[in-house]
This record gives sequence, C-alpha cells and structure tokens, in this order.
Amino acid sequence: MTTIHNLGFPRVGGKRELKFALESYWKGNASRDTLENVGVQLRKRHWDQQSGLDLVPVGDFAYYDQVLDMSFTLGNLPERVHGFQGDALDNYFRVARGRSAQGTEGHGCCGGVAAGEMTKWFDTNYHYIVPEFNTATEFRLDASRLLEQLAEASAQGVKAKPVIIGPITYLALGKSKDQSAKLALLPRLLPVYAALLDTLAGEGVEWVQVDEPILVTELDAEWQHAFNTAYHQLKVCKVKLLLATYFGELKENGYLAANLPVAGLHIDVTGSHDDVQPLINLLAPHKILSLGVVSGRNIWKTDLTAVLDRIEPLAERLGDRLWIAPSCSLLHVPVDLECEQQLDPEIRSWLAFALQKLDELRVLGRALREGREAVAAELAANRAALAARRASPRVNNPAVQTAVASIDPRDGQRDSAYPERARKQAALLKLPAFPTTTIGSFPQTAEIRLARSEHKAGRLDDAGYKKAMQAEIARSVREQEALELDVLVHGEAERNDMVEYFGEQLDGYAFSRFGWVQSYGSRCVKPPILFGDISRPRPMTVEWTRYAQSLTAKPMKGMLTGPVTILNWSFVRDDQPRSVSCRQLALAIRQEVLDLEEAGVRVIQIDEAALREGLPLRRAEWAQYLDWAVESFRLCANGVSDETQIHTHMCYSEFNDIIASIAAMDADVITIETSRSDMELLDVFKQFKYPNEIGPGVYDIHSPNIPTQEHIVRLMRTAAKRIPAERLWVNPDCGLKTRGWAEVIPALANMVAAAKTLRAA
Ligand code: GLN
Ligand code: ZN
Repeated sequence: MTTIHNLGFPRVGGKRELKFALESYWKGNASRDTLENVGVQLRKRHWDQQSGLDLVPVGDFAYYDQVLDMSFTLGNLPERVHGFQGDALDNYFRVARGRSAQGTEGHGCCGGVAAGEMTKWFDTNYHYIVPEFNTATEFRLDASRLLEQLAEASAQGVKAKPVIIGPITYLALGKSKDQSAKLALLPRLLPVYAALLDTLAGEGVEWVQVDEPILVTELDAEWQHAFNTAYHQLKVCKVKLLLATYFGELKENGYLAANLPVAGLHIDVTGSHDDVQPLINLLAPHKILSLGVVSGRNIWKTDLTAVLDRIEPLAERLGDRLWIAPSCSLLHVPVDLECEQQLDPEIRSWLAFALQKLDELRVLGRALREGREAVAAELAANRAALAARRASPRVNNPAVQTAVASIDPRDGQRDSAYPERARKQAALLKLPAFPTTTIGSFPQTAEIRLARSEHKAGRLDDAGYKKAMQAEIARSVREQEALELDVLVHGEAERNDMVEYFGEQLDGYAFSRFGWVQSYGSRCVKPPILFGDISRPRPMTVEWTRYAQSLTAKPMKGMLTGPVTILNWSFVRDDQPRSVSCRQLALAIRQEVLDLEEAGVRVIQIDEAALREGLPLRRAEWAQYLDWAVESFRLCANGVSDETQIHTHMCYSEFNDIIASIAAMDADVITIETSRSDMELLDVFKQFKYPNEIGPGVYDIHSPNIPTQEHIVRLMRTAAKRIPAERLWVNPDCGLKTRGWAEVIPALANMVAAAKTLRAA
C-alpha cells in the first residue's frame, strides 16, 4: 500500500497566531509561557489537520526559522551569544533578531548582539538565518526541542516523522566567517548527526526525514563526495532515513542520490517526471521512492487524474515502495482556502491552500489503495474545476494573447543609443552635475495608513481619500523643493505595497484576505494571485503623477514597478511559462509608461527590485531566465522617445554575475544599493565599462542613522574613481517609506549639501 505523508506544514497559523504571539512577547507584553503555549496549540492543531496521513512531520515547527533551529540542535551558536545567562529561547531570538546594547525590548537582558545574517531559502521568498562557521567551530547535540515536540506528538497519537536539515545542505547554506573550507567541518559535524539519529531511534522513531535540497543544484566533486562520506557514516544509525530533495530535479545528481545508503528518497516531480524512470532503475530493490506530486509552491488545484495516470503504473511496479507527498514543505503556501469567503467563487474553485492540498493527497492515496472508483466523485469534481479554469474567459483574453504574439523585437529598442539620448535629455532636463533624487517613497505616516484603512473599510469615500493623498503628495513636494532636490517624486503615499498596488488595478489578478506566507520570523507576505491573461483597463498612476507635477517646475519622476518584480512577488500561473506571464505584464506596464510620457512626465522610474532573486537555482538555467527578464523590461520601458529618461532601481548589491544583463536593460539611469559596500560594488560596473548613468546609494535607509555630508562626499569621491563623475547621480539606497520625516529631512539635507560640495570642487 502506498504511504502518504507530508514534508512540513506552515507554522505561523491560519490567522497568523504565531506572528502576533511573537511580537507581543518581543515587546514585553506577553510572557514566555504565553508564547510557548501558542506554540503548543499551533502544533496540536496542525497535527490534527494532518490526520489520516501515514506519516506526519514533527520538528518542522520553529519559533523563527527551521535553519536556526537546526543550528541550536547542533550546538552551533555564534560566538557572540555564547555564555548567555538567560533562557535558551531568548538566546535564540538574540541570534535571530540581534539586540541593541541600550535596547530594553524583550526579556533576558544584557548587552548588544548583532543579528545573524538572513538570506533567501533557495528560490523561495522565505528567508533563513545563515549558520556561521569558522575553523574552530565545534558542534554539540541539543536534541531537547525535537524531543519535546516528539513527546507532544506521541501524546497526541501522531505517526511522527521527525524532520531535520541534512548535514551537507546545512554546511552548504552556512557561511564561513574566516574563509576556511566549510567541508573541513564535516568530520566534526557527523558524530553529532549520528548522536541525534540514535537519540531519535531511542524514542522509538522509525523514519527520519533528512532534507537535502542542495541536491537539486549543481554540485562540485567535493560536495558530491561529501554526500557519500556523510551518508556512509550515518548508515549505522538505527533509524530509516528518507532523504528529501525538492525545488527542482536531481538531474546529474540522480546517480549520486540513488546510490546513497539511505532507506528512501523523496523527489519533486511537479516540474518534470524526467528523474523518475532513471531513478527507479538505479534504486536498490528495498528502497522507498517518495514522489512529490502536489506542489508545495503554488496555490493551484492539482490535476489529480493526470497524477494518477502517471503514478498508478508506478504503484503497480513498486508496491509499498511508492510513497506520495507534496513536492516540498507546505510552508510556502497559505493555510486554508476556506477562510477566503470574499474571494471570487469562480477563482476560488481553482485553488488549493495547504489544507486542501492535504485533501488532494488523501484522495490520491485512496485512489491508489481502493481504486479510482472509491473517489470517483472527488476526481470528477477536480476534473470539472480544472476544465472550467482552462476554458474561463477570466483566464483567457484573446486580445492579450494576440498582443503578446505580435511583439516586435523593435518594441524593446529605443530610437537612439544612450549617448544620443543622454544629449537630448540633458538639453531638456537641464540638471546640474551630480543630480540628486530619491528612490520613490516618502514616510508612510500614521495618517496615511489610517486614511487607507478607512477608505478600504468604506468609512472614507473616494473624494475624501483622494484629498488626503493629495495633501500627502503636496507635502512631499514641498519638502523636496525646500531641500532643493533636482528630480522629485510624488512619494507613493497611495501605495500599500509596490506589487499589490499594481496587481489591484490589473485584470488577471486576484487577492486573498488571509493568504499569508512566512517571509522571515514573524514577517509574512500575502502574494497576489496572477490567474489570467494580464491587461490594464485604465491608467494606474497617471493622475497622481500629473497632480504632483502640477505642483512644481522641477521634473517629477513617474514611479512604476517592473514586470519581472511583479511576477517574482506573485503566485503565478502553472498553465503557461513564467516568461509568457512576464511579457503580458510588460505590455501592461508599457501602456502605463506611454501614458505617463503622454501626460508630460519626462523621467520614469521602473523598479526591478526582485529581478535578481528570480535567478534559477541552477546556473545552467540563468541565461534563459535573464533573456526573457531583460526582454520584458526592455519591452515595458523602451517604447518612449529619446527625450524621456528611463530610470530603474535595484536594491541589492550583487551584480557580478548579471552585469551584462543589467547593461542590456539599457535604462538611462540605474539606482542601486551601495552604501554598505563602500562603493566596492561599482568595481563590476567599471570592469564591464557600464555605459549609462548610475546612482549608487549613498546611505542605508534601513538604519535610523543620519549620514553626514562629509561621509556622502567621501563615498561619492570613491564612486567617481570608478564611474566618470558626469554619469553619477546622488540618491539614497532605497525608498524612504519605513523612515520618519524627522530622519528623512536632515539626511536628505546632508545629501543635497554633499552634491553641492561635489559640484563646487
Ligand atoms: N520605489 C520604491 C520605493 O521607494 C522602491 C522600493 C524597493 O526598491 N524595494 O519604496
Ligand atoms: Zn530598493
């Protein structure tokens, strides 16, 4: 009989209970007992919700992050938090969030501590706390967290399968602080893993899920070898290991994975089935093959009939050796579609969140055990929903499809090359040397948020809302004129979020109310759902921008989010390639760009904050992604005349691998994050001979510190050693919406003063 199991469950709770409990604990408004009690209740509920599965994950719950949990389990705490006298959970939060020396927040007290670095978990929008290593790193088992959760689970009668991150992925995801080779730590790490597995065996555990998603990436020989070393050493342990891989295919690592001495292997087959046959041929006859057949990454219903068509013959062949599961942990999808009673029922009928995905799994399990007839009604309903989605006029817009099919490569091409455009723009804009600007948003004050929520709730009418926003825009313009900035922005008061704002105005997008997904710690995001062909029924930003421009004689920047970023921060369609959805978005934003130009806006910024994060896990696939991403940007931006200045903005600081693509976007001006890297990242622009203008961010907007004029002058002089001064702009790292006016005004005053000093020199 086929075993059905789950790899992990969203931990924050359908109503974000964990978020609120954490935040009130951190503020000192709730006790540790209260917080821990919420943890207990959530685990209990989540295990209940997984009833009927043959194996249920335990240990997937974390107060902040599963990788940080693993660091604590392995006793790998950064040096700076060693010897902490308070409670272990407080120490855990110290690593997760850092603590300022004066800070009174929270519990446990004592001394400032830097937060652990955070980075993206593979190609998801979840962020983990990076394990820190150095040559002296030692490991020591602390299985207490897992054992507690295991005890809770067994008291509840849960068929528990503890989940841990495997040793090779753990090392691969960490960072060596002294440049020493991480793999040199393996001999010290493995005994701790062995002790952990034996401890679990002592508790009567049969199966342990060991996550090694690094196996879906390209591995050097060294790392491949490390897999063999590790699992040969761990094979003596008295538990069965299910080696779990996800987020892609094993491809060339298939042979390695199939031959590791583990009892079972889980693979993600939602993208392609190419791995399956070769693996079946390679796997020793006693090994389990677990197939991830329900996507843990998107919110669409699974085509259950198509899955059965594929796996029934495998079940026949493999018998008990076939298991099925979601492709990966359900951490990356919202909890329960049932909460979405306000969502359009037609669209809702196409979706499945975590609980619905588990139902799908139960149906598949029954079909395999009892035959399809046993679930005929469920399968018929599933087929009907999928057919309705395929045929829906909400999904298919022939006009959009025609427009995409008739894209002409010249649409992405400006009339003239950059030098010619730069001359024309300079003549028109008459900007000084080292022009100053900001990235778009100004402080989102309490009044702005109140007006927005009152408007959403229907207590403030459209006219009242418009007046309130115009007052904010007028304030931003006044402040910028007083500061003597050169290119102004309207301040984005009317935007709650740089993707949602556009999604709400585009056809083809839907919004959930509770579709929260953990981004990091207590922070959750609610990605919009891109379900259909994208079109723009009417202008989205023109009126606000036109109003802002009417208040000043200085150039007002039109402010848009780019197609690649909108795509990368949404739940996207599974019925067409991402590249196609991206082109549709590009055409819609292009119309907005052209309307802004038509309205007399001379400078238009198109933010691509998430372009880099869309890079595929395998380098071999990068070029293809970058091709369509850059093409989409060009398509949306380059329909304007030479005189219109196109800006783009990217708030990150790694351009090494993508500089050619950045240059190919051909924006007249790019503003980037640089302040924390001391302008070093401009080296790659210099080496590449990046031809257009650059605004290297001169101060970090994440910090409340006010940069001094001297500091900014020094940074810009450093920048001018790499990029010719006549192509440099002066601006902050990113938007200012999270700061207060009291910080923004002096910071920008120093920035403008610095620009004046530079001009005078
Ligand atoms: N224009 C946006 C802002 O200023 C850009 C935000 C971003 O890059 N993340 O808020
Ligand atoms: Zn930014």
